[in-house]
Amino acid sequence: MMNYRGLRTGRQRSGILSIIALLMLSIASCSQSNPNQGTAFEQSPQAQEAASTPSMQAGKTKVVTTFLPIYLFTKAVAGDVADVEILVPPGTEVHEYQATPQNVKAIATANVLVKNGLGLEEFLESTVKNAQNRKLAEIDASKGIKPLNEISPVVKTAQEEEDHDHEHAQGNPHVWLDPVLAKQQVTNIRDGLIAADPANKATYEANAATYIKELESLNSEFQQTLQKTPSCTFITFHDAFPYLAQRYNLKQVAVVQIPEDQLSPTDVQNAVNAVKKYKVKALFSEPGVDNKLLSSLSKDLKLTLRPLDSLETGETDPQHYFKAMKANLQTLQTACK
Ligand SMILES: [Zn+2]
Repeated sequence: MMNYRGLRTGRQRSGILSIIALLMLSIASCSQSNPNQGTAFEQSPQAQEAASTPSMQAGKTKVVTTFLPIYLFTKAVAGDVADVEILVPPGTEVHEYQATPQNVKAIATANVLVKNGLGLEEFLESTVKNAQNRKLAEIDASKGIKPLNEISPVVKTAQEEEDHDHEHAQGNPHVWLDPVLAKQQVTNIRDGLIAADPANKATYEANAATYIKELESLNSEFQQTLQKTPSCTFITFHDAFPYLAQRYNLKQVAVVQIPEDQLSPTDVQNAVNAVKKYKVKALFSEPGVDNKLLSSLSKDLKLTLRPLDSLETGETDPQHYFKAMKANLQTLQTACK
């Protein structure tokens, strides 16, 4: 899953990365080191509650979710009739998350587990095994979604290809960033909750319908706005937007991996060549990521570096999805002009 790794991982692997010159992706995001989001998390009692150990309220169905977008969708559908928790605290890298004993405990005492699927939650298999909860119902939010593999043109190096064995085994997992696929995820979550807790069927249906309506109007907003800038081509440093790009006729191009310490003249040249070859209009980092290499690269490329949010971290209010996606839309609109 190398190309989904975040900045934090990059740092940990800086020895290797500094050998590798300019590659497909990864820097930005999924990042524990995100100062803004980290602070938001610490200050949010809601988030703390969500990430805390199991609170068994009598009678309520206990639902554990894996990471932020899945938490947001599940919370939106469940409202107050079920207890919803999150395993991977916002601000923590999901792609290579290591489960804690608390996570095992949470799953052991849960009725339902909701995951994104598509291979994103690598930590889950052994965690669920350790929890030994035979009554656990599992909801795969991506059920029925056809995953994309590499549709983005990607700038690669020889070293990177060797390092690139079986990733993408289950396709790109970032389906929640396409409002239409998000709708499908909400529907899957709704159906799974109804199956696990039929007594609250009416509530799950009503809540899901409200949220789906909002997703539909978000989709129209994206369509109307982005049809004015067809085939807008952008570079990201986290392979998170191929579904969004496909949906709205944009092109996520070279996902470039930046070495940790300094850019070599070859790195810069490769990036410049990619920008020319693909007529790139925009360069995206992620919110809260302050990376000097990216800033200097953006200067060399004469492209403004803007933040695009993969929603892997952020606030735990279900409305946060719309807030962050509308901010993304505005960023895309400005960058693609
Ligand atoms: Zn990601």
